Amino acid sequence: MKKITTSLLCFVLIVMSITVKAQDMEYSKKVIKKLASPAFKGRGYEANGDKIASAFIASEFKKSGLIPLNRNSYFQDFELSANTFPGKVEVKLDGQLLQTAVDYLVDATSPSVKGTYPVIPVTRIAINTPEKLMTLVNRAKGAFILLDNRIPSGESADLKQVVSDNIIKLKTNASFDFKGLILFSEDKLTWTSLTYQNPRPVLHVNKKGLDPATVRTLTVNIEAKLIPNYRTRNVVGMVKGTSASDSTILISAHFDHLGLLGKKVYFPGANDNASGTTFMLNLVRYYAKNAPKYNTVFIAFSGEEIGLLGSKAFVKQPLIDLSKIKFMLNFDLAGTGEDGIKVVNGKIFRPQFDQLVKLNDIYKLVPKVDIRGEACKSDHCPFYEVGVPAFFIYTLGGTPAYHDIYDRPENLPLTAFENYFKLMVKFIQTF
Ligand SMILES: [Zn+2]
Repeated sequence: MKKITTSLLCFVLIVMSITVKAQDMEYSKKVIKKLASPAFKGRGYEANGDKIASAFIASEFKKSGLIPLNRNSYFQDFELSANTFPGKVEVKLDGQLLQTAVDYLVDATSPSVKGTYPVIPVTRIAINTPEKLMTLVNRAKGAFILLDNRIPSGESADLKQVVSDNIIKLKTNASFDFKGLILFSEDKLTWTSLTYQNPRPVLHVNKKGLDPATVRTLTVNIEAKLIPNYRTRNVVGMVKGTSASDSTILISAHFDHLGLLGKKVYFPGANDNASGTTFMLNLVRYYAKNAPKYNTVFIAFSGEEIGLLGSKAFVKQPLIDLSKIKFMLNFDLAGTGEDGIKVVNGKIFRPQFDQLVKLNDIYKLVPKVDIRGEACKSDHCPFYEVGVPAFFIYTLGGTPAYHDIYDRPENLPLTAFENYFKLMVKFIQTF
């Protein structure tokens, strides 16, 4: 009887553990899909994208019973400035409608512009001296300059520098009296978010079959809106540790992405960073059920894409004692992993990095744990700069989609997701 009970118990436990495991991947896929769905508006500052996403994350924190750290709230409000594109975004070259985010992008600094304008097509040779630049600018009064920005073979490094400096002048010099700039290239279209507007509109065009030298007119309608005091929010919660120590482990991921480019186009940001946010939510669920040794604080940051503004705001007005943070782990881009993971600050915190490699050698969880030095490219940075020991870890390999409309859940392999999660749980145990 006892034997039967034991084997029955074993069976039940095995079934339970399989269910928990399967449930986690199922949960992860569901959450990534949700965060990257049109309803979340690209998690930017148009149509309340950031509010919808942060509310969802807070509800997940609540479900797991996390302790709010801002009195009774999971939210930490802060303000940022954002140039947004909530309205019309339409571009036609010689009457042909271009497809937004497929054929072209509006530069993140662009102001509004509406009308039909003459286009003056030139190549990089037309701006490779200060004199030529001024001649072109004077000729282009009231027109758009279309610069074929493909680099001709044989352009020297010195000339490259002059041309790129002059492109910056064309974008930013308020005293130049021409209407706007079109940059044509065959490079991948990669978008960003910025906090300001430049004096004139800039379009980045990469359209197959388009001969930039033949373009004569631009018809454009772009509604840009600079919001100087946009109120957004981080989401912060804690699981209490079992030890009496007042040390903290900090786990973070940014939930924001690039938002909308016009009413119809949104940037899903599945890998960047629905994947990291979901990775963190898995850790939330895990530690809510398996109490950690140290107080473990979870932060989903807003404002990352626009300049690490959520993490900067937190460091400026911390809800926890930053000097008590034993270690910070920031997850940004967690959705691939066929080539392993890369650890920013691995060279700085070498004993912790070596520990991580050792664990991976023993348990064989991800293909490789790669090392990197400092890189102020994600939300660990403002913490690291004030002395908090921190890693920023990202997965390697897989999809090339990045800051474009192709960063979608269906393109995300989640190759290492489960094993990466196991590795992190084992790593956190070593503190
Ligand atoms: Zn990111």
